Amino acid sequence: MRFVDLHEDLAFSSQSEDVIGGSNQSSVQMLRGVGDDIIVFGSLYPHINTVDERAEVLTKNYGHSSKSTSPLIQILLEQIKFYLYLERSGHVKIVRGSGDLDSKGLKLVLALEGADVLTDPYDLYMLRELNVLCVGLTWNYDNKFASSCMSKRDYGLTGYGEELVRVANELGIIVDVAHSGKKTTMDAASTSKKPVIASHANAKGVKNHVRNLDDEELEAIAKTGGVVGITAINSTLSEQPSIHDLAKHAQYVGERFGWEHVALGTDFLGVEKTPSGFENVNKIATLAELLGPHAEQVLWENPIRVLKNTLH
Ligand SMILES: [Zn+2]
Repeated sequence: MRFVDLHEDLAFSSQSEDVIGGSNQSSVQMLRGVGDDIIVFGSLYPHINTVDERAEVLTKNYGHSSKSTSPLIQILLEQIKFYLYLERSGHVKIVRGSGDLDSKGLKLVLALEGADVLTDPYDLYMLRELNVLCVGLTWNYDNKFASSCMSKRDYGLTGYGEELVRVANELGIIVDVAHSGKKTTMDAASTSKKPVIASHANAKGVKNHVRNLDDEELEAIAKTGGVVGITAINSTLSEQPSIHDLAKHAQYVGERFGWEHVALGTDFLGVEKTPSGFENVNKIATLAELLGPHAEQVLWENPIRVLKNTLH
């Protein structure tokens, strides 16, 4: 089979487990076993992964001092280095532009999860040179570009954030609103001239959760020609999460906003526990069965359309 997974935490997890030959949720070897034409958005996750630690920094600096961003850029570069190592050792091909989408094999799209690491919108010119082709506006922290889904004051895109979207459009970098606040999602969708994605999020209409998207957000993303990557984060699925809930969220978005706006963003290696029946990338084949006639569109055609409409 062939599929696109809009979110996996390969680089971040490589510090704690074997993401090349391992058997937990996802690895290069497992992915290769599932199909011969696979695109995975490999997350770049430059955060100090402790909310309390970060909160202290925020209290001191309101999150925009160069002091708080310098270690983040180091984490970012280390993760890019890891993906380059994967390519150099023959495990993956890194997508550098739309021309790479048609080659067979396991391909990685480097995707920044949260713009906190950027000093200003023009840092995207540097990231484009490093083949980062997707930029998430926020993770769970507010930043100088946009408000996050955890924001206490959902201010949406700032002037810097609007410029970030504009520069991303210019450079052929996909704009991702996963983890964004509602106002950020609405602002990004109305600002962007290219399709906007939520790489890993589910529908609030099925499960009310801060990380999920309400109908207005889903409609706004659909209007840009974008996609929502249905995700395996248990708390966003249901009380007793299973593979059937992934299908349910997909169906909700598909039937209300059009199946051309549904995709998959598992968050494998980024979640501690997985939904029952959807423990690892092998189970994407089972999900395909549940999606029935929509499987090829959801798992391949829709995300490929976004990639081809955006990347240069
Ligand atoms: Zn995430």
